[in-house]
Amino acid sequence: MASAPFKKILIANRGEIALRVICACKDLGIATVAVYSEADRDSLHVRFADQAVCIGPARSARSYLDIPSVISAAEITGADAIHPGYGFLSENAGFAEVCEVSGLKFIGPRPDVIRSMGVKERARELMKAAGVPILPGSDGVLTTGAEALETARAIGFPVILKASAGGGGRGMRVVQDEAQLEHLFAQARAEAEAAFGVPDVYLEKYITAPRHIEFQILADEHGNVEILGERECSIQRRHQKLIEEAPSPVLKPETRVAVMARLQEAIRAVGYTNAGTAEFLMDDAGNLNFIEVNARIQVEHPVTEAITGVDLVKSQILIAGGARLGEILGGPVTLRGHAIECRINAEHPETFAPCPGRVTGLNIPGGIGVRVDTALYTDGVVPPYYDSLVAKIIAMGRDREEARVRMLRALEMFVVEGIYTSVPLHQRILSDDGFIRAEFDTNYIARLLG
Ligand code: ADP
Repeated sequence: MASAPFKKILIANRGEIALRVICACKDLGIATVAVYSEADRDSLHVRFADQAVCIGPARSARSYLDIPSVISAAEITGADAIHPGYGFLSENAGFAEVCEVSGLKFIGPRPDVIRSMGVKERARELMKAAGVPILPGSDGVLTTGAEALETARAIGFPVILKASAGGGGRGMRVVQDEAQLEHLFAQARAEAEAAFGVPDVYLEKYITAPRHIEFQILADEHGNVEILGERECSIQRRHQKLIEEAPSPVLKPETRVAVMARLQEAIRAVGYTNAGTAEFLMDDAGNLNFIEVNARIQVEHPVTEAITGVDLVKSQILIAGGARLGEILGGPVTLRGHAIECRINAEHPETFAPCPGRVTGLNIPGGIGVRVDTALYTDGVVPPYYDSLVAKIIAMGRDREEARVRMLRALEMFVVEGIYTSVPLHQRILSDDGFIRAEFDTNYIARLLG
């Protein structure tokens, strides 16, 4: 294993992922700087980092998304690299550029690569050119309703309109027939403009009952690329993932091998570096079709860590320091056992309304085969300003059933008092026949909740 490539890393994030990065830095002997908003003064990432700098008020636009404040915090503390986590500035090419010109190493892909992956129809074209299968769709952005109609007719309904700059499941519209197209096209453009500041929309074939399967990428700065198997993320509510597992219970070994080989070539061809994820949708015939690349560490990375034994965040840091994958991984990566992750949100389990507030009592489960990534603590406050994800429970076993039973045990022993969480929903899913048999698609939750 390579030695520490940086002296001090600033973590431009909060919550469980900020703690996750702090853990990797501690394991590498690298000092850490936390940044925090006024609402996060008493957070665990502030407590466990070696230094902490307040970068502004609660609202993320004025703190975690405020590039000059983050850069100043790095300069004042003498950090030599920045880890962006996920969300916030993690896929902001402009931020990566500012880091570069400020002499700070951005722990992620190069700015130009982030930019080309962030324009989703461009990423589609790049992958297609490199031989990765994509869904039939428009060649780039659609400018008029008439053009959208012509493309949709050629592909066949239903189709989905997607924001070019989209993310987090927003800016998408499913179009069932011609009559809806013009009006939904205008809606999708308006929503894209409002959410991402760019109205560009493209279109692709809508798969009625897909499974979401994604591949973990690691690529060093010397042209070496490894694909660390896949994650199945079909358990979603409103296009937001709730449960992920690795490996996928349905992917055929020959499909896995074929897609991994093509993806490896494509990722090398686009000059991608650091960690990333290529997302695919599986159609009825079991074929995988590329939809997008996420140029960052994912929320669900621990399930891959569980079945590969590879520390993905540590790998990101070592890659950014110039190490070679061969040295980081120390030999071929093998997939062993099965892992499931439940995303625990601070929300009402039936109404899904966010439920911030003070945690008055807490028990974090443990025991064989269980990992919990969380920034919760007794008397800590979950502020209302940020994402409602408060904990990730990862259960692993020699096979899927062992992991599932351990997850149920962990969910039972995960006690959070003072706020509502989505634990009861997870218990229901983990005990459901459809989940047990692994017979589900991305509409599973909608069906379960009726
Ligand atoms: P985002 O970047 O906003 O998360 P994605 O392109 O990753 O958007 O899609 C998120 C989810 O939306 C997918 O996991 C899937 O459930 C659904 N989705 C996206 N594209 C399609 C499609 N062509 N057909 C059916 N469902 C889709």
